[in-house]
Amino acid sequence: MKTITILGSTGSIGQNTVDLIARNADAFRVVALTGGRNIELLAKDAIRLRAEVAVTAFEEGLESLRTLLAGTGIEVAAGRAALLEAASRPADWVMSAIVGSAGLEPGLAALRHGGTLALANKESLVCAGPLLLAEAERHGATILPVDSEHSAIFQALAGEDMEAVERIIITASGGAFRDWPLEKLKTATVAEASAHPNWAMGQRITIDSASLFNKAMELIEAHEFFGVRPDQIEAVIHPESLIHSLVAFRDGAMMAHVGMPDMRHAIGYALNWPERHALPVAPLDLVKAGAMTFRDPDENRHPALRLAREVMQTGGLSGAIFNAAKERALDGFIAGEIGFLDMAGIVETVLEKMPAAAEGITLDRVLEADAEARRIAGGITQSVH
Ligand code: NDP
Repeated sequence: MKTITILGSTGSIGQNTVDLIARNADAFRVVALTGGRNIELLAKDAIRLRAEVAVTAFEEGLESLRTLLAGTGIEVAAGRAALLEAASRPADWVMSAIVGSAGLEPGLAALRHGGTLALANKESLVCAGPLLLAEAERHGATILPVDSEHSAIFQALAGEDMEAVERIIITASGGAFRDWPLEKLKTATVAEASAHPNWAMGQRITIDSASLFNKAMELIEAHEFFGVRPDQIEAVIHPESLIHSLVAFRDGAMMAHVGMPDMRHAIGYALNWPERHALPVAPLDLVKAGAMTFRDPDENRHPALRLAREVMQTGGLSGAIFNAAKERALDGFIAGEIGFLDMAGIVETVLEKMPAAAEGITLDRVLEADAEARRIAGGITQSVH
């Protein structure tokens, strides 16, 4: 029986994972479920999946969680230390689906027991890719990508020689504003940015899709995870979201991963890897789907892709700085402090202000750079406000 932990079980990826586990509950034993503020959902799933321990990342949720799980025999805990302890409990397969750089340390803790880390938390690779990969290697752990684009690339690369890879092409739906002119983007609201045309996801990644920051993060994620040069990675707008990414080989062949936009495919692939099991995902009817179209992203409207290229070239701590500045700017946009277009300007300014090159990546340095980038981004946000 496979033992499972879900970090971020109450989120969008977490819930899709819970759904897959619950459909085949006898095949799994759930070690830990962790959540944030949605205590009721955490408790409900802990009972449903008979988890050993349920953890909320925030101390203030402890009493409610304890009350909801009283008499069930499920262990209850709260706070950052409890989250890290739960992540470090041995499990064959751990889903890393906490949002933001808050997911980095729990992911590292999970790698240390040498199982499989199913990585949805792209921020871990953006902030500290070399650290994460080194930790996996040191402990004989496996990292499997869950981001749909990276799962697609991983599948296209199965059995291939990396020497034969010419380019990786990451598709982007273009998000909620793919057809909006620059002028209109200035007044875009949080509600408008939170309405993704094709994918149902958490609010933060949905807004990042509209600004193309999500795609920018994915370029860096591909660079770190697959070890390809920045000039070998490109993004292309594909509004239908049916091709989830492609690999171009030196013989001219392109391998594309094609399917319905449903995260349970990428999660289920990582769950069953290296086997393929049946999944509750609707098959794609190619004739009904009709045309698949592609176009270049407009970098005037969305500078995030250019910033991602700079980050890949610079390396060092620039990914941690980029991500933290983006997270803080996103907080500011969601709180109504800054406009949609201000986010990219803030990230660019923070990158200019903070030296990032030539520094070795350690966890302490990443956390320091993260805190400093948030502080500077917060200051700029206040001045814009
Ligand atoms: P959600 O916002 O839906 O869920 C985030 C999860 O993290 C929730 O369980 C939340 O708890 C928990 N959480 C929030 N803050 C903290 C914290 N400080 N410490 C510990 N736990 C916390 O996000 P998504 O599921 O959309 O995304 C999760 C990750 O997966 C992100 O890195 C995202 O980029 C990536 N991803 C998501 C995709 C998607 O389809 N959604 C696709 C590809 C990648 P609570 O809700 O209880 O407060």
